[in-house]
Amino acid sequence: MVRLEVTSALRAEQSRYGLTIARNLADRIADQVVQDEPYQTEAAISASLKSDSDLHYAFVIGMDGKLFAHTFGTGYPVGLTEWNPTGNKEETVQLLATEVGTIRDVGVKVFSGLPAELHLGLKETRITVTQERLRNRIAVGSGIAILGALLFSLLLNRYLARPLNHLIAHGEALIRGEFGKRVGLAGHGELGALAATFDTLSQELASSRQRAQETMRQMLRTEKLSALGQLSAGLAHEIRNPLTSIKILFQSFLESSSPTRKDIEVVLSETERMETLLKQFLAFTHIEEATPQAVDLPEVTHHVLYICRYQMRIQGIEVATELAAMPPVLADRAMIEQVLLNLLMNAVEAMPEGGELHISGGITVDNRVEIRVRDSGGGIPEAIRDKIFDPFFTTKPEGTGLGLSVIHNIVGHFGGTIDFCCDSTGTMFAVSFPVASDMTTKKTGAANEP
Ligand code: ADP
Ligand code: MG
Repeated sequence: MVRLEVTSALRAEQSRYGLTIARNLADRIADQVVQDEPYQTEAAISASLKSDSDLHYAFVIGMDGKLFAHTFGTGYPVGLTEWNPTGNKEETVQLLATEVGTIRDVGVKVFSGLPAELHLGLKETRITVTQERLRNRIAVGSGIAILGALLFSLLLNRYLARPLNHLIAHGEALIRGEFGKRVGLAGHGELGALAATFDTLSQELASSRQRAQETMRQMLRTEKLSALGQLSAGLAHEIRNPLTSIKILFQSFLESSSPTRKDIEVVLSETERMETLLKQFLAFTHIEEATPQAVDLPEVTHHVLYICRYQMRIQGIEVATELAAMPPVLADRAMIEQVLLNLLMNAVEAMPEGGELHISGGITVDNRVEIRVRDSGGGIPEAIRDKIFDPFFTTKPEGTGLGLSVIHNIVGHFGGTIDFCCDSTGTMFAVSFPVASDMTTKKTGAANEP
């Protein structure tokens, strides 16, 4: 496009140039044409041909319209005079395709309105050379442009796209919670500064998470320790009472006669109480030794119901079960049995005058397995609702207050939860666990432990 425009401009320039020298030459030879001196005319036009490399030929048509002088030597082209294109015009420019290339024939009248005319043939050498130069320059130019673009895109890639992608990838890692990774884009100007901010942020997130985890672990440790301490103190206190009664009785046996049946019954019941306390207390300490296995909750529930059936019958409790089939949970069967037994016993103890016990279970919306125990025992007073899980909290004269805290401990150990809701008509406790397949993928190590 550029080259075409340049070329046509060059051609117009060459036409103007040709016309100018033709006019000069015509003025110079005018006298010789009038005086009919073809040799001098030929000498003059040959001289200008030599002085200008662009001139290919020159010829003059005389006043009679015939070829008067020319630079073709012996053999001039046939019909040269018929080329005479000027006609009535003062000047003409025409392009001739010849064996030496395109020739620009510039014709001018030697005298205005008379037949004599001078023709110069101009080669397009200069235009070709210029075109060539132009072509080279354009080639070099576009080469440079392409190189520049390449370099630019390389730089863009190196200094912008790549670091940006890098930053984005690190941002995504942060979102995934992969803290502490370094972007490592030092010396990238503003992007480098951004990367450094990213690095700092990532490091801070990593260390603060570590701190939080450490605090959490510590809290759990102290919580556990204090719970155990609390339990031990509670246990010592709880055991002291039956032990004292037994001691007093034995002292009386030493001082007086043999023990009565009533004395023996008291010793037995106090011993049983201590045994129960110890058993429940051990549920806390032995939980770490639990052997998780696939436990079928409905099966364990039926088993526990069977154990309690006698007690429920004499208390006039009606039982309804609604247990859907469910996948097993990964837990210790004996411990789960203890959980369900404690829940059932609490329900039974809440209905001394009889009532309805409703046991249901199935898969929850969030894909957990759940067992619900509902009684019609009048509910839990609001004032004590936040204490019922505390160890040794009890409202029963014969209670240990360990049942719910043991349940809480066991359920939590196997990834489960325990909730309750109640009103004046009764209470419902619900325990839920993740299904065994979910657990195995997360806790394979625990499952394989000996
Ligand atoms: P314990 O049964 O030895 O009292 P738990 O830890 O099992 O100890 O229960 C603590 C307290 O929670 C009970 O004393 C009782 O006040 C209350 N509670 C538990 N379950 C029920 C229930 N189903 N209905 C009413 N109160 C309940
Ligand atoms: Mg209980």
